[in-house]
Amino acid sequence: MIDCAIVGGGPAGLSAGLYATRGGLKNVVLYEPGLPGGQITQSSEIENYPGVFREEPPVTGMELMEQWQEQCFHFGLKHEMQKVERVRKEGDRFILTIEGADSVEAKTVIVCTGSVPKRAGFKGEEEFLGRGVSTCATCDGFFYKDKPVTVVGGGDTALEEAIYLSNICSDVYLVHRRDRFRAAPITVERAKAKSNIHFIYDSIVEEVYGDQMGVQGVKVRNRKSDKIEDLQTPGVFVFVGHNVNNEVLKDDNGGFICEMNAYGNAVVDLRMRTSVPGLYAAGDLRIDAPKQVVCAAGDGAIAALEAIAYVEENS
Ligand code: FAD
Ligand code: NAP
Repeated sequence: MIDCAIVGGGPAGLSAGLYATRGGLKNVVLYEPGLPGGQITQSSEIENYPGVFREEPPVTGMELMEQWQEQCFHFGLKHEMQKVERVRKEGDRFILTIEGADSVEAKTVIVCTGSVPKRAGFKGEEEFLGRGVSTCATCDGFFYKDKPVTVVGGGDTALEEAIYLSNICSDVYLVHRRDRFRAAPITVERAKAKSNIHFIYDSIVEEVYGDQMGVQGVKVRNRKSDKIEDLQTPGVFVFVGHNVNNEVLKDDNGGFICEMNAYGNAVVDLRMRTSVPGLYAAGDLRIDAPKQVVCAAGDGAIAALEAIAYVEENS
């Protein structure tokens, strides 16, 4: 039986893996279907993770997270490239249903499944996803070198990624549905200082159009005047928030195995304990998550320390 199963290999999961292995648990397995690192690997720069800073070129999310995996694996964390479908508790053990494989048993489980990018919901968004519509500037920005692009959204991600794209692309049209931003004021100021970022307020993307080759342009409607503007950009970057990955905590009756809030986040206490003994939730999945790498890492460490104590007490 696994001592500690960790579901999800973002900052919370990797940090939990580091603390659980160094803390003496013998069999610690990280379930992550992709490369470990989580959402931050999509980011072109991270400058608010303490102790890791480079002005030019900035540290990328990928660069940051590569070091985390190496450190974890060095201390004995095992990585299974598998998706966990469900977690349930039977007596004093947990059963993890693994996609395409046999179930596994664990003494304790730390769920760190984070979130995924939301869709804005405009016509052509799905059709052109990966062919002009993107949710990752680091991955796709270079395809639009010296070309104009559209960015959708008004949060930290949209503004930061618009700044990143402005250094590669000729022009960045930032389409936001309101006239005020959710992003941090300092980030908004930085974006405004870029002469090739053009702000289109109170507007939504109606449609992305193109052909077999990909996107040719974007139709943007002003919500106040109803005027349609045609932006002839071959790239459209959508940064409109995330959905919580909480499927793994669902039960067979459409509910959840532990207490959740109205937004689908796992309710935890300051020790990352869910309402089920031995089950922990960490990172963006939990209630009141600040959605920061440093906080997710802290959560993972707390959850692992609790898991160690739980295994000791229940062995
Ligand atoms: P995630 O990073 O979302 O990782 C969850 C992992 O779980 C994923 O790898 C996923 O594949 C895996 N998973 C999901 N379901 C399952 C399953 N069923 N079975 C197994 N594995 C599963 N934060 C900052 O502090 N500074 C920044 O500058 C910053 N910039 C950002 C820029 C962008 C573009 C984005 C998207 C986010 C940014 N953030 C930033 C936020 C930060 O990335 C997140 O808060 C952080 O990654 C959350 O970590 P996590 O471990 O909780 O979840
Ligand atoms: P977010 O803060 O939820 O912002 C989403 C933005 O998209 C909002 O401006 C929202 O508009 C807009 N939007 C939502 N649905 C839309 C739709 N259907 N059509 C058009 N626009 C839509 O998401 P985020 O920017 O991805 O950030 C997520 C979290 O990560 C936040 O907590 C953020 O602070 C954090 N983060 C932090 C950093 C950093 O600290 N450096 C960097 C990136 C992300 P409204 O404003 O009108 O709601």
